[in-house]
Amino acid sequence: MAEIEKLTCKTVIGQERVKQIIRSAVDKERLAHGYLFHGPPGVGKDLMAIRIAMELNCAEKVPEGCGQCGSCQQIQRLEHPSFRFVFPVPSRPKSMKPEKYNAFIREKLLERIENPYTGISFTPEISALPAIGIEQIRALKQEVILRQQGSRYRVFIVSHADQMTVQASNSLLKLLEEPPAGTLLILTTSVPNRLLPTIASRCQHIRFDSLSTSDIENALNRFWNHDEDNARFFARMSSGSLEQALALSDAHFEKCRSAAWTFLENSLHSNHLSRLDICDTLIQDLDKTGIQSMLNLLAVTLRDLYCIQIGIPEKIINLDREKVMTSFLDQYGDMDLNEAIACVEHAIASLKKNVYLNLIVHVLSQNLYDLGRKRLNVNH
Ligand SMILES: [Zn+2]
Repeated sequence: MAEIEKLTCKTVIGQERVKQIIRSAVDKERLAHGYLFHGPPGVGKDLMAIRIAMELNCAEKVPEGCGQCGSCQQIQRLEHPSFRFVFPVPSRPKSMKPEKYNAFIREKLLERIENPYTGISFTPEISALPAIGIEQIRALKQEVILRQQGSRYRVFIVSHADQMTVQASNSLLKLLEEPPAGTLLILTTSVPNRLLPTIASRCQHIRFDSLSTSDIENALNRFWNHDEDNARFFARMSSGSLEQALALSDAHFEKCRSAAWTFLENSLHSNHLSRLDICDTLIQDLDKTGIQSMLNLLAVTLRDLYCIQIGIPEKIINLDREKVMTSFLDQYGDMDLNEAIACVEHAIASLKKNVYLNLIVHVLSQNLYDLGRKRLNVNH
């Protein structure tokens, strides 16, 4: 996609405070050996780490790298001898030949470098849960030992570092304890508390912020060709994550949004049997990514309903649905919508932990139904 290619050659979107911190450290030659970039998903942590690697090795010495010189190009193709990008990957299925597996993983990593604001999916080719295993960290340490001479700075990125196995973490810890000179290790994560405390304490922490709605709106408009109305809509729904905005704005959006609404209405109205039907249909119609979008949109819908319930309808995001939502509240006006949002958030968290899809959907439907009943009981 030409638009996204333009993006990789440009600077990181937003994050002015972080850029200043890094600028100052680079200019004063005071970079730490290890950094932990943490903050919400989809706000540019990996891209920032890649741009630092580019700058430190750039032939043109341009801030954040020129993106054009041989060194910058090598980094973007994952071919630079002083750059390594470690990412959680699923283990090789027995049925897949090692060469095919390696080529497949490489292609996915290149995709990530090219579209650093888009998540990687290894399915349907490989369905195992991705993780950073001991072999990946061993290979990285091998590189650290081998490539001592040559380029100015060697940069090793461990993306989604919270997904390291315990063995991998322990192995990395040894490297952090004695980092060779001229080596920069950058760990990125959106859940820093899942890292071993011993790892976290050996890194300098840099917190990334959620992106502002206007930053996301501008980026969608500029790099992904969304018209202004669309860009504004998805930016408002994105909770400050460009990754989420992009996931929402794909072609399935309308399908997932109406599935969210149907799911909510039917969970509240229907009897037990037809609720089972609804869940089954949903799982047939949408894949895991679709269900994830559906759940995100359901959370947004419930937040909108809450805004109307407490009398601030001007804050809603689904502007075109205000009438439908208002009439929904004629019937469910005193439902505990905050509790409903919590249930959806719990479902989203379970999905990320790879809990069985069927179970997630059925439990959520039942919880929403119970919340609807509770409201009726309160009435007398
Ligand atoms: Zn360059």
